[in-house]
Amino acid sequence: MMRQYHDWKRRYPDYLLLFRLGDFYEAFHEDAGVAARTLDIALTSRQKIPMAGVPHHALDVYLARLVRAGLKVAICDQVETAPAKGRQLIRREVVRLVTPGTVTEAGLLEGRLNNFLAALWRAPDHLGVALVDVTTADFLVGESADVEGLTETLLLRRPAEVLLPPGIPAGDPLATRLGAVGVTVTARDASSFGLREAEERLRAHFRVAAVEGLGLPRRGGAIRAAGAVLGYLQETQQAPLAHLTRIQTLALEDHLTLDEGAARNLELVESLQDRGSVATLLWAMDKTRTSMGGRLLRQWLLRPLLRPREIGERLDAVAALVEAPALLADLRETLEGIGDLARLASRVALGVASPRDLAALRVALGPLPTLREHAKRSADPTIRECAEAAEDLGDLEKTLEAALVDEPPLGVHEGGLIRESWNPALAELRAEVREARAWIAGLEGRERERTGIASLRVRYNRVFGYGIEIPKSQVRPMPPVPEDYVRRQTLVGAERYVTTELREQEAKVLGAEGRMHRLEYELFDDLRRTVAGEADRLLRTGRAVATLDVLAALGHVARERGYVRPTVDDGGVIDIREGRHPVLELRTDGARFVPNDLRLVSGEVECLVITGPNMAGKSTYMRQAALIVLLAQMGSFVPARSARVGVVDRVFTRIGAQDNLARGQSTFLVEMTETAAILRHATPRSLVLLDEIGRGTSTFDGLSIAWAVAEHLHERRAGVKVLFATHYHELTRLAAELPRVRNVHVAVREWKEDIVFLHRVVAGGTDRSYGIQVARLAGLPDEVVTRARALLREFEQGAPAPASPAGVDAGQLALFGGASAVPPPTAAPPPHPVLARLAELDPERMTPLEALAALDELRRRLSDAP
Ligand code: ADP
Ligand code: MG
Repeated sequence: MMRQYHDWKRRYPDYLLLFRLGDFYEAFHEDAGVAARTLDIALTSRQKIPMAGVPHHALDVYLARLVRAGLKVAICDQVETAPAKGRQLIRREVVRLVTPGTVTEAGLLEGRLNNFLAALWRAPDHLGVALVDVTTADFLVGESADVEGLTETLLLRRPAEVLLPPGIPAGDPLATRLGAVGVTVTARDASSFGLREAEERLRAHFRVAAVEGLGLPRRGGAIRAAGAVLGYLQETQQAPLAHLTRIQTLALEDHLTLDEGAARNLELVESLQDRGSVATLLWAMDKTRTSMGGRLLRQWLLRPLLRPREIGERLDAVAALVEAPALLADLRETLEGIGDLARLASRVALGVASPRDLAALRVALGPLPTLREHAKRSADPTIRECAEAAEDLGDLEKTLEAALVDEPPLGVHEGGLIRESWNPALAELRAEVREARAWIAGLEGRERERTGIASLRVRYNRVFGYGIEIPKSQVRPMPPVPEDYVRRQTLVGAERYVTTELREQEAKVLGAEGRMHRLEYELFDDLRRTVAGEADRLLRTGRAVATLDVLAALGHVARERGYVRPTVDDGGVIDIREGRHPVLELRTDGARFVPNDLRLVSGEVECLVITGPNMAGKSTYMRQAALIVLLAQMGSFVPARSARVGVVDRVFTRIGAQDNLARGQSTFLVEMTETAAILRHATPRSLVLLDEIGRGTSTFDGLSIAWAVAEHLHERRAGVKVLFATHYHELTRLAAELPRVRNVHVAVREWKEDIVFLHRVVAGGTDRSYGIQVARLAGLPDEVVTRARALLREFEQGAPAPASPAGVDAGQLALFGGASAVPPPTAAPPPHPVLARLAELDPERMTPLEALAALDELRRRLSDAP
């Protein structure tokens, strides 16, 4: 048996092999250790071989945990019930390969999330990628010279598994990036990525004469990556994949580019706190009624559009629903009943759909005709297009209704799936079984009468089949059993007999039942194949339903929360009146959200320096601007009184110094890496949010870096729109030096010793940081606050306020750096006396003793210095 095990393990070395042994799936050797650790199950051993097993009926539960841990699993099952003649061993085969990117089991998938398998091909001058979700038939490929941009676009979709060719060194930025995001990486050999192989595979799969016919990018990378995912799927699914009939291009130029960092910082689909979905933009917007709609909304959100015309079409559709509340309500109500056509169709096409899946599909199809009717009531072209594309599929529903019983079982081999009325042969077999069963059921009564033995029983036994049992104590005083009784077995308290007729009837039942199960399986398989033939229609319908669902959700949110239609154009103006933060405004702790205006105009006002004390609302103000832009470009109404959005090509963020601490990287280094990326990639049409940059280092360093970054963007990327929140109010002087920079600050009201946050953004810089008041609000003990106040007064007196156009005072810097005056950020600070002395020393001309003395002197001066 171990030889059999090793034969299979050799063929699937990268997989954790689960080997069926009776009622258990066992892992051996190293696999056993991995399984025990991952599943928290006992590691045992037999004849010194480590093993760990899970009960067969709970396989899917354990499988889910293994796959979620990023492991690939091969299931080696028993494919016969008893060893063939002349053999001792049951035949076993690998019947299923389950990997994070290729799972199809509904239980292992998240309804509202695509499960993407990705592949990357790194060519010297470009990157090629492919993404496929075999459970929904989404297939995307792309290539670009902007390697980073495309990598980010890929990572945003959180692929469950990424295939890489050999030769990407571990230190490569690509590998590092994948590692940081934490996806399962599967190394494939060179031929999996071969260009010839890929072209051949694609040609065969899509049945085209030449790959050129597919309209894919031409540099090679995309084709290689597409070939790699197809090959891997063919290997793991062992099914034809006929439902993958569409391949879309993932072109960076068509969409607003978001990197994974920006999506994270803006909490689009994952919260910063716990990477959960609550309190994210998607969470706020996702009022879709179907899983398909949920997945599509996520895609729209992570890929906002760039062309005002396309955006306008979506906005028209949303507006049409906002203006027709009755239609909107009808649509949403109907959508509620529609199941996941895409996933069901995919399972059918892959040949893994269970009878329950087909029953679910039957239910899912029910509301389609009504949905079409509703959608046709609208005059909006996009909605009408969806109505056309959503087929009513009534024929398929009828077939399923006629063929499949009301509540079919999960398994396909035990019968009970197909209605008798569906197939005459099945009806005959059922009748035969019924008759024979009825004969057996009547036998007990008949035999009791014939023999006069009242305690006679007809019983079924799994080994011996049906038998007539007569309790022993009654055997002797009773009349002898009839002559046609043949003794079969002596039990503890009874004798067991059969008759020829009983044998015949029994054979009839068993034979007919066996034939019935086989027939039902065949009929079911036919049915599944019929449905598979409709996979294309189902998927097309699924896409139309998803689109309607997303539009209806956007319409619903717009109505419920008083969103307005934004004007989207190429005008280079972002003008938001009374804008709100789409997520924060939903918080129900009683506090009202304070709306704010924002205005940026290319060539006039391109950078806002936002000052104000901690907790005033600077970050919120910046984020809400970015979120409103993203919403507008995905085609949604926005939370504002009015909004004009000049299309933005990319959103960059550098937000918060705290969020990376958890990853254990140097905060400052991460911050600067992100800042460097912004400086490299921002275009005149980008929107950049810089929140407290430079915070991770000393005050002067931070201030200087922040200043230089703002200057650089302003001068080298004229047009780029920058929101710059900072607690360094020295930066308000930027407005005086650079023409297109303006100051705004978040107002607070002073009240006795306290401050009240107004959350209102007003023009001009602020001159106070209110650090002590905020500290007090945060609960610093009173003595400490009082002492801090006294110190602040002292520091301020020793620090003459510099004359500055923006009215900056030196309070904060004096507090932190102890400097006597704030130098202009561009001038070097005066050197420390110790440093000056150090610079004068010449170690080469000093004796060791002199050096020691000098060192001592330096140390003394240092402790004397203020
Ligand atoms: P800052 O970045 O200035 O330190 P934040 O933007 O983080 O401040 O805001 C702090 C808190 O103030 C937020 O968590 C929110 O509760 C509240 N807040 C911010 N802006 C508003 C607003 N416009 N209306 C109501 N509450 C707000
Ligand atoms: Mg902040």
